[in-house]
Amino acid sequence: MEYWIRVMEDINVKSEQFNEEKLAFLASIIESSDDAIIGKTLDGTILSWNMGAQKIYGYSANEVTGHSISILVPPGYPDDISQILKRIRQGQRIEHYETVRMRKDGKKIDISLTISPIKDSTGRIIGASTIARDITERKRAEEALRRAYDDLEMRVQERTSELSRTNEALRRERDKAQKYLDVAGVMVVIIGADQKVVLVNRKCCEILRYNEHEIIGKNWFETFLPERVRYEVEVVFTKLMAGEIEPVEFFENPVLTRSGKERMIAWHNTVLRDEAGNITSILSSGEDITERKRAEEERERWTAELARSNAELEQFAYVASHDLQEPLRMISGFTKLLERRYKGRLDRSADEFIAYIVDGAARMQRMIEDLLAYSRVGTRGKPFEPTNFEDIFDQAVANLMITIEENKAQVTHDPLPTVMADDSQVAQLLQNLISNGIKFRREEPPRVHVSARRKGNEWFFSVQDNGIGIAPEFFGSLFQLFQREHAANKYPGTGIGLAICRRIVERHGGRIWAESEVGKGSKFYFTIPVKK
Ligand code: ADP
Repeated sequence: MEYWIRVMEDINVKSEQFNEEKLAFLASIIESSDDAIIGKTLDGTILSWNMGAQKIYGYSANEVTGHSISILVPPGYPDDISQILKRIRQGQRIEHYETVRMRKDGKKIDISLTISPIKDSTGRIIGASTIARDITERKRAEEALRRAYDDLEMRVQERTSELSRTNEALRRERDKAQKYLDVAGVMVVIIGADQKVVLVNRKCCEILRYNEHEIIGKNWFETFLPERVRYEVEVVFTKLMAGEIEPVEFFENPVLTRSGKERMIAWHNTVLRDEAGNITSILSSGEDITERKRAEEERERWTAELARSNAELEQFAYVASHDLQEPLRMISGFTKLLERRYKGRLDRSADEFIAYIVDGAARMQRMIEDLLAYSRVGTRGKPFEPTNFEDIFDQAVANLMITIEENKAQVTHDPLPTVMADDSQVAQLLQNLISNGIKFRREEPPRVHVSARRKGNEWFFSVQDNGIGIAPEFFGSLFQLFQREHAANKYPGTGIGLAICRRIVERHGGRIWAESEVGKGSKFYFTIPVKK
């Protein structure tokens, strides 16, 4: 304490205002400071050393007073003392100069120095005061903070590059997905909650005839849907977005192309959700069914037309044959009467003419009966029931007994199935085919064979004969009304049997056709669907 008072007296604080008491007070402040407060000469010799200095450096005042301040510079470190003193001599003050010093126990410490010149009453610089503060802790904390910061920065960098890698991967995935979408045969469009288009594939661009960038971001409903369906489709979209309805399979609505034309699209919708499960957008894939629709409409129109003309024809055939029967009966009745009464009484040509009339009338009657039978296939059909074709075969053969015996024909069959059918009609069908097989015979005794084979959902029946065969050019008109081959003229018939067969097969949902080689025989096929 006395030392400090002396120091202060030595310096310039010795004035009227500073009495002994005040000096003592100041000195006690210096002594009790936690900072080191050191006085030294301009060559660095330590003059004063407070308790703070002792605490920081470990030396007592006695140990260091009179020694050079350089003892505090750790070995191996540049001696900055002479530099500092040089600046002090120039009257500069050095503030918060951070450096490393060594304690008495050899431990290095970080300190912050503030060094000021000390002047005497004339203003001459006579020494320097140093205030030193141990900043080791602060430095350590700073260092820790810096390391933590570096670490954080490194992690941020790692995370950033990881993110960009993920982004890159995502972009590649998206590109891949886009490629898949582009080769897809259907158009794909994703519409966001704001009704704007988020994504389209190439097919979508092709159908709409816009470039991708012209579609993305546009309001789908306002831009690409015809006004008349806009509201209806928007309602569905809104409900889908709100999760109020499940996606409707194959929702059909038209789109508007660049030229203002409409294309009919069959849509399949899927809702897309984010990770939290909220619906974010709707993915719609659509198939252009414009052509298909057109063809369907066309077909429907033709089917209706065909049904109408069929019905008309049937009606005509029925009315005609029915009404013709009466006058015809009269003709044949009176001609027969004429024949009975006047045969042999008129001249020979009269007898011949009468015979022609009788013959013609009989022929016409057969034709009309056949025509009636033909029109009845459609109008008098019975519901289908399980029908055993072996029974049907027996029935047909029984009906043809006389013909078979007359021709010495051999009619055989393989095992035949039971199918759903109108028994009277299929009996007629089989009978017509077998009788043709016998009728159109060659010299040798006729042989007719019936068999059946199941293929998928159909029964394939066949009726094969060893007769005259059918010329290729006649195949086209084989199943038409009243069509007979030239070669058939010497065989009796009206040319209606196969037309009836076709109507019967068609009524049962099947097909009928023939294969043949002239002189070797024919094989007629027909199918009947397998039904439970
Ligand atoms: P139709 O037997 O009264 O002449 P169809 O309608 O049964 O009438 O047959 C039409 C024509 O098809 C026959 O006139 C004949 O030319 C030919 N045809 C039918 N079946 C056979 C057959 N099994 N062999 C050869 N020709 C046949």
